[in-house]
Amino acid sequence: MGRLSWRLATVAEVRPETGRVVTLALEVPGWDGHLPGQHVDVRLTAEDGYQAERAYSIASSPDGSRVELAVERLEDGEVSPYLAGELRAGDQLELRGPVGGYFVWEPDRGGPLLLVAGGSGVVPLMAMLRRRAAAGSQVPARLLYSSRTLEDVIFREELERLAAAEDGLTVTYALTRAQPAGWTGYARRIDAVMLEEVGWRPGERPLAYVCGPTRLVEAVAGHLVALGHDPSRVRTERFGPTGVP
Ligand SMILES: Cc1cc2nc3c(=O)[nH]c(=O)nc-3n(C[C@H](O)[C@H](O)[C@H](O)COP(=O)(O)OP(=O)(O)OC[C@H]3O[C@@H](n4cnc5c(N)ncnc54)[C@H](O)[C@@H]3O)c2cc1C
Repeated sequence: MGRLSWRLATVAEVRPETGRVVTLALEVPGWDGHLPGQHVDVRLTAEDGYQAERAYSIASSPDGSRVELAVERLEDGEVSPYLAGELRAGDQLELRGPVGGYFVWEPDRGGPLLLVAGGSGVVPLMAMLRRRAAAGSQVPARLLYSSRTLEDVIFREELERLAAAEDGLTVTYALTRAQPAGWTGYARRIDAVMLEEVGWRPGERPLAYVCGPTRLVEAVAGHLVALGHDPSRVRTERFGPTGVP
């Protein structure tokens, strides 16, 4: 079966990540693997035949046997409240993929890596970091991750564990809406100054991957190019129309 045909996946596990985000671990018969950064298309069919399709990045490293997605529930959304609210282990859904060949990274592509995420935009970047760790790669990597609050940070424990390994990964959060008492980190949206402070110098020729809400992605990519980064080394993935966080 080709990667562009629809296939039936079974939900093996549903894991809450934050109050609004769940990881769906899927068993996908015949899955041929994927590259970190790729996504799948998910299709839901209602009893009356109405269908809705959405794209979801793959969160897992290709090293595991399951395909994991991490879906944020948007209260007024059509598809995400079902995926991140109703689905249970044993349920099935249709998907096709993996899709995408541009927003991908494997350790042999080198670095240094600059990963910039807004909200659920961290999902494909997490696949890259999980792959980096599983491969024992020491490619220097910096993640700058914007969330509304600390509680909204997806994969927080795992990110902290990965950063604690001291193998060349740093993780920096920007909390845009509320900060815990005593927070000394960034408390605003990602801007050019932050990218200069956290990121690499243009002369270090980082490979940048920027993912999240459309407005954040466009702002960050614009700042990086204005700071002197080579546009051909700035890759972007836009998740949706809104400007938050
Ligand atoms: C390549 C790609 C990968 C993606 N990967 C992920 C992922 O890993 N995890 C994930 O949770 N989502 C991801 N998305 C977004 C996802 O495809 C859906 O757009 C999202 O789940 C909303 O769908 P919905 O049917 O619930 O909302 P809709 O019914 O489509 O929209 C409801 C409301 O939410 C707004 N909206 C739509 N999309 C977004 C968004 N992304 N952010 C904020 N507001 C939005 C709409 O303007 C509308 O007001 C990805 C999108 C793309 C293009």
